[in-house]
Amino acid sequence: MGKVIAIDGPSGAGKGTVARMLARRLGFEYLDTGALYRAVALYLVQKGIGPDESDENILETLKSVSVDFKDGRVYLNGRDVSAEIRTKEAGHYSSVFSARKPVRDFLFPIQRKLGEGHNLVAEGRDMTTVVFPGAWEKIYLDASAKERARRRYEQMKDSPNPMTEADALEDVLKRDRRDSSREIAPLSKSPDAIYIDSTSLSPEEVVEKILKAIGD
Ligand code: C5P
Repeated sequence: MGKVIAIDGPSGAGKGTVARMLARRLGFEYLDTGALYRAVALYLVQKGIGPDESDENILETLKSVSVDFKDGRVYLNGRDVSAEIRTKEAGHYSSVFSARKPVRDFLFPIQRKLGEGHNLVAEGRDMTTVVFPGAWEKIYLDASAKERARRRYEQMKDSPNPMTEADALEDVLKRDRRDSSREIAPLSKSPDAIYIDSTSLSPEEVVEKILKAIGD
């Protein structure tokens, strides 16, 4: 395992943009673990698996899937699904299925493996607490719910399925609740993580703060 910069935080805090920029600046690889959860959710939905399915059935269904992340793209059984996973529906189901043990157990070794052999910036909800507890640097990136909803709205505005600002806020709050209250690997700030509030900061300013904090 090389050096890992682990970044956690709620949806819309800017983790993706910041992690990508940071990786480029430092010459590290970049890993978006939310994309892995979204790809798995897409697969389960395609296979007719619903939120109330038993752990056994989810486990069985996952036996026929491979998920990979390479150069910023996510692959489901070898097919690039990077665009498909960005819908509101995929976001919803990723949050629902990510609370399930067989899904987290399935993705844990994949994430660890993606961290091998190089330096890495990894972002998600449990990077600092579960997947890379021994990370070189740990960051918790936050922003107000209102600002995160505004960013989500802007992001989805020109997509085939745009949402209203009120929808975006409801979506953000629902996901916060689900991600923070689940039993397994809930979103929480690791005590040794550096806390950054990005509400009134640009991605560039967040990157500068992180670089300063890690002494680069
Ligand atoms: O970051 P993103 O919004 O793409 O993540 C989609 C969903 O995947 C999140 O709402 C969260 O429920 C789940 N997730 C997770 N653990 C991670 C990354 C994402 O549970 N490490």
